[in-house]
Amino acid sequence: GNQRVYNFSAGPSMLPLEVLERAGAEITNYQGSGMSVMEMSHRSKVFQKIFDDTKAKLRTLLNVPEEYEILFLQGGASSQFSMAPLNLIGKTGKADYAVTGNFSNIAYKEAQKYGQINLAASSADRNHTYIPTQDQLKLDPEASYFYYCANNTIYGTEWQYVPETNGVPIVCDMSSDILSRPVDVSKYGIIFAGAQKNMAPAGLTVVIIRRDLAGQELPYTPLMMNYKTMIDKDSMYNTPPCWCIYMLGLVLDWLESKGGVPGMQAIKHAKAQMLYDVIDSSKLFTCAVEPGSRSDMNVVFRTGNDELDAKFVKESVEAGFTNLKGHRSVGGMRASIYNAMPTEGVEKLCDFIRAFDQNN
Ligand code: PMP
Repeated sequence: GNQRVYNFSAGPSMLPLEVLERAGAEITNYQGSGMSVMEMSHRSKVFQKIFDDTKAKLRTLLNVPEEYEILFLQGGASSQFSMAPLNLIGKTGKADYAVTGNFSNIAYKEAQKYGQINLAASSADRNHTYIPTQDQLKLDPEASYFYYCANNTIYGTEWQYVPETNGVPIVCDMSSDILSRPVDVSKYGIIFAGAQKNMAPAGLTVVIIRRDLAGQELPYTPLMMNYKTMIDKDSMYNTPPCWCIYMLGLVLDWLESKGGVPGMQAIKHAKAQMLYDVIDSSKLFTCAVEPGSRSDMNVVFRTGNDELDAKFVKESVEAGFTNLKGHRSVGGMRASIYNAMPTEGVEKLCDFIRAFDQNN
């Protein structure tokens, strides 16, 4: 049909309707330039302004201090699993990793190619249903950096604190919760995120890096994986993901109109709480994630009966909700409720869950 659905995809995920409409209105002739942003030279004045404005908006909205650079790269968040060790591990040859889910585990294994990697914490013992406490982190004071993933998209857990590492730089994957809550950037060495959840279409990877951490890369670091190259050339050593950067600018305008990051934080927490309350008070559904570790972005739940889960997913599609099926590695259901998911969509999903609970 011609109706938009409530899309609970984990990513790429929904973008605000206002953003899509604005992009649509500007798609054949961007502000009198006679062309679409997709057709512009990345060296043109028009595009340079889009680039600079988008970077400035992100700096303001995330309160990024002056000594940090914002990079607009490609390769997905996954490219950072290699780029971070290649550039940072040379300092001492060692790094600490906390493994709290699928993507931090991939990063942990990738880093082992480049140095001595210490497993500072793992939540695998309880199937990644919790986030380790500060006391549980086994930190090496000689680590070149400490790595963790702020929000575990597949397992539905989210760190509720910033680890204290006593001066060891923190590298953090914020792919699935960036811009949903205020972040004290000064506590981090590197923050990175694939754009396709809370920021823009897939194809853009945002990296926020403290400038002094660049320039110590391993000698065989590929040119395109060298933070220094990208800092020196303001992310334009080669062609950047122009269209995605433009779209990020539109999303940031939208975000600002909604009260910025603090505005998002209030809305997203209320949305998630609504869902957790319905799940916790139902007779059929449970959320295995321990309270205190639950994600406000990805809400995982299940009935414990695979056939009933399948029935739920099937009926949810018929009711106008998509992508509620859990990740293939864990099963069950998952509602990804990023910034662009309207409160109304979550309310309707809550109604649907309540009705399913009564009728089955
Ligand atoms: N980190 C997290 C937390 C993710 O959720 C994902 C993708 N879902 C990735 C990394 C990988 O991102 P990409 O596909 O952009 O490489």
